[in-house]
Amino acid sequence: MVKLAEWRGKDVFRKYGVPLPRGAVARSAEEAESLTRSGAVPLPCVVKAQVLSGGRGKGGLVRFANSPEEARSAAASILGLTFKDEKVKEVLLEEKLPINRELYVSLTLDRALRLPILITSPHGGVEIESVPDSEIDRQPVDPFPGLTAYERRRAAKSLGLEGGPAKSLDGLLVGLWNAFQREDAELVEINPLAVVGDRLVALDAKVTIEDDASFRHPDYAEIRDDRTPLEEIAREKEIAFVQLDGNIGVIANGAGLTMATLDVLKELGGSPGVFLDLGGTDDPKKVAEAFLLMAQAKPAAVFLNIFGGVTKCDTVARGLVEAMSQVAPADRFPLVARIRGNNEVEGTTILRAAGVTAVPDLKESAQAAVEAARRAR
Ligand code: GDP
Ligand code: MN
Repeated sequence: MVKLAEWRGKDVFRKYGVPLPRGAVARSAEEAESLTRSGAVPLPCVVKAQVLSGGRGKGGLVRFANSPEEARSAAASILGLTFKDEKVKEVLLEEKLPINRELYVSLTLDRALRLPILITSPHGGVEIESVPDSEIDRQPVDPFPGLTAYERRRAAKSLGLEGGPAKSLDGLLVGLWNAFQREDAELVEINPLAVVGDRLVALDAKVTIEDDASFRHPDYAEIRDDRTPLEEIAREKEIAFVQLDGNIGVIANGAGLTMATLDVLKELGGSPGVFLDLGGTDDPKKVAEAFLLMAQAKPAAVFLNIFGGVTKCDTVARGLVEAMSQVAPADRFPLVARIRGNNEVEGTTILRAAGVTAVPDLKESAQAAVEAARRAR
């Protein structure tokens, strides 16, 4: 899944004729000032942090500015902040529009119905999850005819729109549907969709592109605004590394074993926080590098689940022991290992000599990792 930052989502909208405020992206406070001074962004303007998490409005990451100086200081106060683990590297500056009403519109896939679904609500500008179900209209869309005139009229009715705004909605929905379908999106969301006089304007854009279709959209494949700083480093080193919310680090080899390991930990009441797939590495240096990256994520405990094939158990063990010696004593964490397969005995001996708990049974070892994390907290 490729999540696009607001400004990238708006680039998609623009391509399909969805009406937007005039605006531009700035990566420094100076740039924010000059964009408003030159008139590229009309004043007064809105200065919005470009992060993927929602709730920026409430979080103080949407500011207003009446002059180039104010645009500069608004950008300066937002850039570099960390919001829900994301660093703000860009701000979007847009003309500030007088809003009459804020609406909600999205197209997404309904997995139960196995169809696209058009979701509309007259309550925009708040999280859709907080809107009562009775105030949300959901229309499944047959992908072959696409979004029909009937469905578009019903959407206008559900939003309480008539006349000019209803007409504006009709064109907007055609564009939104085309964007959803042609870009292979999983979600296109406008929240809020603002009523500005007789027009509608998309004030926000949330677009996610289906990963499996990325071969049709090479432009998106390189966009990963959703990587954490550690994930970014891992990518450069070609290490498969993903950060989650929990506190147990998982090191395994192969996607299947890695996923199964996460499941087992969850089932035993643990909470995986970061995982690393060593794949077919047979290089102790690479294992050490990956382990040090994991150490930077500060897990409460680490569970190592390796099936030795091409990746030999003793190779992993050696890499690990080497890496552990490089972690400062204060930053060390308990390590529980289950290593089976090629050179299992050698690997286990190396690990035990280094003080690692090595247990051959999966459930027992996973349980030990969960306990270790619990104690460390
Ligand atoms: P989110 O909180 O991360 O979803 O960020 P949004 O892009 O939805 O912006 C949050 C809120 O800022 C919106 O609901 C609007 O109330 C307000 N806002 C954004 N752009 C404008 C604008 O051009 N004019 C006015 N008056 N308010 C705006
Ligand atoms: Mn929003």
